[in-house]
Amino acid sequence: MALKADAYVVLNDGHKMPVIGFGTAAAEQETKEQAGEATKVAIDVGYRHIDCAFIYGNEVQVGQAINAKIADGTVKREDIFYTGKLWSSNHVPERVRPALEKSLKDLGLDYMDLFIIHNPVELKPGDDPFSKDENGKLIFHNTDIRDTWKALEACKDAKLVRSIGVSNFNSKQLELILNMPGLKYKPVCNQVECHIFLNQSKLLEFCKSKDIVLVGYSVLGSSRPKDWVDQNSPKVLEDPVLIDVAKKVGRSAAQVAMCYLLQRGIVVLAKSFTPERIKQNFQLCDFQLSAEDIQRLDGVNKNMRYFNIEIWKESPKYPYHDEY
Ligand code: NDP
Repeated sequence: MALKADAYVVLNDGHKMPVIGFGTAAAEQETKEQAGEATKVAIDVGYRHIDCAFIYGNEVQVGQAINAKIADGTVKREDIFYTGKLWSSNHVPERVRPALEKSLKDLGLDYMDLFIIHNPVELKPGDDPFSKDENGKLIFHNTDIRDTWKALEACKDAKLVRSIGVSNFNSKQLELILNMPGLKYKPVCNQVECHIFLNQSKLLEFCKSKDIVLVGYSVLGSSRPKDWVDQNSPKVLEDPVLIDVAKKVGRSAAQVAMCYLLQRGIVVLAKSFTPERIKQNFQLCDFQLSAEDIQRLDGVNKNMRYFNIEIWKESPKYPYHDEY
């Protein structure tokens, strides 16, 4: 059965997450204002799930866009599912709630629907998001992630957030939280890189077995920022098998790349600041891939990560040494 435009998954805490999310991370050449304008277009065409983060530097503009769409009657606050992220220099427990409150103030919102730990890797605590030593190397820190998690639980109890989760965690790091003594709330999701070249089948199975939703980012192959992504890496939307399936079903490569993940039970985030594409990426409800198409796309997987983040490899919490 094809998907409905307002389809959602029920999280393990009972809240609902729309299955198609709008990514707001601007590419190098784009402005924060463009992120705001694109968010308005996204809400107009039907997206209700907005993914943002402190480190994107555009919470003011994205919050203004959401509030403008509430003010003009397009949506109510409760129609929107807003995700924010705790940056890596704020893992020490006493920095968690102030970081969240700063984001809420910038956004002009009373609460977030979802607040997630952006990455298990911790950087030196402080207001500089990327503190470096005298040799220009990043300074890592090593708070017990379970203490960070307890601080997130307190934010949920204080009703500043409805749901709490993680991002870029491997299965062992998830287990650490799931098995912690006195765990009050399980992570509702793990937001990770996921696309036809990195289909995350093992992590997906693990997350499903724990009732944790896998949310995929860079599902279209990412915006390929020069500082983070190898510019020679293959492009998702140019993959011949993807293009062939897209031709067969009469849809765009982007739509098929997203549908492939949705049909496997993954929530998808897609970023575009181009109105026509914002619209196109939301029109996934009137077609379905056959089991054979899915199998062909499974065959394209090469466990290839765009965001290896080599410069974080020295952190004891680097998540990608393990297979999943
Ligand atoms: P995506 O995989 O969503 O790809 C975005 C790129 O694809 C842009 O260059 C965009 O161009 C282009 N594009 C979008 N739609 C189409 C289309 N229909 N046809 C052709 N090209 C298209 O990239 P992101 O890496 O930005 O991931 C999406 C979101 O996920 C982010 O914005 C962010 O919210 C989240 N994210 C989370 C991370 C984490 O660590 N938790 C890490 C990375 C991303 P254009 O804008 O010009 O249309």
